[in-house]
Amino acid sequence: MARYTSPVCRLCRQEGMKLFLKGARCEMAKCAIERGRPIPGMHGARRRKISTYGEQLREKQRLRRLYGLMDSQFRILFKRALKKRGVTGDNLLKLLETRLDNVVFRFGFATSRAQARQMVNHGYFRIGERIVTISSFQVKTGQVIAVKSREGCQKAVAKCLEYTEKREVPSWLSVNRQELKGEVLRLPERADITVPVNEQLVVELFSK
Ligand code: SF4
Repeated sequence: MARYTSPVCRLCRQEGMKLFLKGARCEMAKCAIERGRPIPGMHGARRRKISTYGEQLREKQRLRRLYGLMDSQFRILFKRALKKRGVTGDNLLKLLETRLDNVVFRFGFATSRAQARQMVNHGYFRIGERIVTISSFQVKTGQVIAVKSREGCQKAVAKCLEYTEKREVPSWLSVNRQELKGEVLRLPERADITVPVNEQLVVELFSK
């Protein structure tokens, strides 16, 4: 699977907001957005007037980058959201939020979603008795996600928890930091998802 390998702070600068792509650094004064770094490019300091299409595209890029998905993965998820009953934008956000890598990040077991994805891919977590290595795995109500008993995995997660202890865990999840495990209490509602993105613009973009 292709992945983005260029500097990630550039993405935040382009979106004009913090996307929290770099773990602990995002909470520090060193963050490019905190330092007021301009939009990348020669004329970065100037914001051009943006068309409706441009706005929709920007919003899609923002959401996609926030969750660290490539365009093709994002489109697949959108198609799934479209097929589900209910409001497509809400469905899309719920599908993004219930990905295993995002849940690991929300528990505070990783400092960024990228790190969470790597940990999942490397088999750090089990759901019930099974090790799950698929970061796009959709979690379900009642599932318990626990760190594998291997010392290296436990140490790495415990270190991340030191950085993330002040991070608020959403109400649809519960985490036991001592036992290095967390539970999905229920599936998230739209109101539980506080990403600063207007998902309706994304729906409009894909509905053309
Ligand atoms: Fe974005 Fe984090 Fe870089 Fe700040 S430090 S610009 S939030 S990736």
